[in-house]
Amino acid sequence: MSYSVRGEEPIVIEALRMRALPEGGYDHLLKFLRLYRDAVQLVIDRIWSLNGRLSKRKLHRLFYNNLVSMGFRAHHAKEIYVYAESVVKSARGNGGRKPILRRLSARVDKYDYRLYLDNMVLTLKLHNGYETKLRLVASSERVEKFRGWSNYEMVVKCDGGGFWVSIYFKRVAKAVKPRTVMSIDLNFDNVTLAIFTLNGRLAKLKRFRTPLRKVLTHRIWVERVQKRYPRSWRFIKGVEKAVDRHGERIKNISWVYAHKVGDLVAELASKHSSIIALEDLDKLRENNKKGKRFNKRLGLWIYRKIQFCIEYEARERNLEVVKINPRSTSSKCPRCGKKLAEYRHRVLRCRKCGFVGDRDVIAAINLYKKYMSKHPRCGVSGVAPNAPKPDENPSGVQGKRDDAMKNIKPHELI
Ligand SMILES: [Zn+2]
Repeated sequence: MSYSVRGEEPIVIEALRMRALPEGGYDHLLKFLRLYRDAVQLVIDRIWSLNGRLSKRKLHRLFYNNLVSMGFRAHHAKEIYVYAESVVKSARGNGGRKPILRRLSARVDKYDYRLYLDNMVLTLKLHNGYETKLRLVASSERVEKFRGWSNYEMVVKCDGGGFWVSIYFKRVAKAVKPRTVMSIDLNFDNVTLAIFTLNGRLAKLKRFRTPLRKVLTHRIWVERVQKRYPRSWRFIKGVEKAVDRHGERIKNISWVYAHKVGDLVAELASKHSSIIALEDLDKLRENNKKGKRFNKRLGLWIYRKIQFCIEYEARERNLEVVKINPRSTSSKCPRCGKKLAEYRHRVLRCRKCGFVGDRDVIAAINLYKKYMSKHPRCGVSGVAPNAPKPDENPSGVQGKRDDAMKNIKPHELI
């Protein structure tokens, strides 16, 4: 899924990929794909030999008549030269060689196909006036989602396994008007989130435990085994199996958790019409202090996974997500800005103003403050949020209750 802003209206674009079974016209479709690939290659060769950027108009003048005389329809021709130009551009951008196309794949404009989602049929206009009909294979739930969206382009492919189509859908995202800001602090042990009203009042605090300690146990086990059986461990059946099993568990635990948290967080954000402020993990790398809060052994992939799910679920609900540089968010006093010192386990204290607070909650508050200082239009900038009392715990942290894990059945985690 991608999310682009054109003018004021954000547009959501998503592709639906399906297997396609040709009902007649199989040979013509295959012929079309070959012709299309060769035509794109011809255009690539030509553009490659020319220097400088080519405008759409220039491309049209250079290639349109030629392509139409090969049997392509008007919009086929346009797709071909636009695609060829983009291939050349990205190859040059990477400093690579001239691209040689091997795969059979064609991009087709909405004027050259017709999609009937109700009976899962696609008709496709080919070269020389030929046409083909494809039966599409996809579960109804996957298709149901796109009702009410418009589609504007498709790609048809042929590989060893048969034909595939990807239909590109788009819709206008009616972005939710934010009433609150939700800032989220990711840690090894937990995900802490805080919801603030636009004038700086803390409306909600919540914490979800992460299963990362468990993931780490599996990871350490794998590392230990790999060390014990240098190189040859792969060939020992039992060892290989056990390593795979632990690898699978790591994957399962983290995906199940990431999806669950993404869903819970987005649902809560939707209820409060929040803009979601996440830590920019790329900036974290630069700040070079990830080791403090994130376990180095796990790497950042697991945090990215959690963020990915939060972002995905949020956008499904038309909520805005922003990334904030987390630099010094977990070390500065949210009241006076001075450096905080360790006070008790996970509790920090400001020597200057006496502010005391939970480390992760402080990080969430600071993240919110950073967001507000960059987006003052959202509220009154610079107003200190009402910080929680030192003994105040985020809900979900008291006792053994854990909101994220409560709804996951134990067997899903093992
Ligand atoms: Zn202070």
